[in-house]
Amino acid sequence: MENYSLARCRICNSKVTRFLDLGKTHPPEEFRRKSELGRPIRTFPLGLSYCPKCGQVQLSHEIPPDVMYKQHFFYDYSITKTGDKHYTELAELLKKKYKLTNRDLVVDVGSNTGKLLMIFRKIGVKILGVDPATRLVRVARKNGVPTIDSYFDSACAKRIVKAQGQARVITCNNVFDHVTDLHEFMRGVRILLKEDGVFVVEDPYFLTFFKTLGHVVYHQQLDYILVKAFAKLFDAHGMELIDCERIPWHGGSIRMYIAFKDVYKVNRHVQEFINEENRLVLKNEPKALKSWGGKILAQRDDMASLLKKLKRQGKSIGAIGASAKGNCLLYYSGIGPKTVDFITEKSNLKVGRYTPLGIPIVKDEVLFRKQPDYALLLAWNFSDELLAKLSPYTSKGGKIIVPIPKLKIVG
Ligand SMILES: [Zn+2]
Repeated sequence: MENYSLARCRICNSKVTRFLDLGKTHPPEEFRRKSELGRPIRTFPLGLSYCPKCGQVQLSHEIPPDVMYKQHFFYDYSITKTGDKHYTELAELLKKKYKLTNRDLVVDVGSNTGKLLMIFRKIGVKILGVDPATRLVRVARKNGVPTIDSYFDSACAKRIVKAQGQARVITCNNVFDHVTDLHEFMRGVRILLKEDGVFVVEDPYFLTFFKTLGHVVYHQQLDYILVKAFAKLFDAHGMELIDCERIPWHGGSIRMYIAFKDVYKVNRHVQEFINEENRLVLKNEPKALKSWGGKILAQRDDMASLLKKLKRQGKSIGAIGASAKGNCLLYYSGIGPKTVDFITEKSNLKVGRYTPLGIPIVKDEVLFRKQPDYALLLAWNFSDELLAKLSPYTSKGGKIIVPIPKLKIVG
């Protein structure tokens, strides 16, 4: 039997050491039809390892991409306002910073339903999406966004260059840390990017996760990004990190700007990020990482024991937001339909389905209609936006359980 272990560093190929074990879980975006509920649940070990050589932090085991993305991928980021505002700002910033014109091509890798590219089209550049999730590619094309139904690699990059020329900007939001082979991806970037082009990556930043515990470990995210380790990846491909900044996204993310060497000046931020990583995480590993892992386990156990205690007291519990991370968190905490009655969700792609353990996914309004005693917030990334919308529930006495970063009850 294959165990899908990631025994070697995804950046430098050295042997890695595991420092966190969260048990096993199903693919994070697995939401089943009613008829599929009796089927066995296929699970994969979930944990984190680090590389003593380059400082990379990565998943201990991976789920084969075909299991992960072709069958179970429902995330539709067009449904939150937070995403809309964030991507409008990103498009305008890149246009201004790199003086993009209508002759420039912007390629978004992991383009989902085409939301970011629709914004880029509005500001007057040429656009192209790449995404392997067939279901989402169909939606993107309906939105008028030209999209290639594929993983991004050097073959895909060559195909784009042949048809449309090289790209001035390649964006990759919350996808780069998901890719199976980082080096093959970078070979694709080298082929597709113009000499003065910029590759812009946004992903959760591990140092923020380390400091705040405001994120979760889950299978879609293979890399828990530290600038120090990723600078080595870019260097191995003749490129360099020219700037990086923190952005308030997914509980604290990083935006990295990567270009060919010696084309742009390297901002001092890059060294500042590395200095802080060295000070807080890498100088003290594995001790610092192991003690951090203990806090992640405590976070999980605190949530599970609160929910089970409330249930024993006869309270009803719903949940809000059938996110991939939330779905995973419930499973590895051992929370199923005996504890949580339903999960509300905005995306029509998920409503009517079930978590693998059998919790039904229902429309948002069910929360107000059923008015359970407690509602577990599984979409904590968007909690400000959501909390305002939940006032009809809390004003009638409903209490919200926020599990991340620190377990608390609101309302
Ligand atoms: Zn390494």
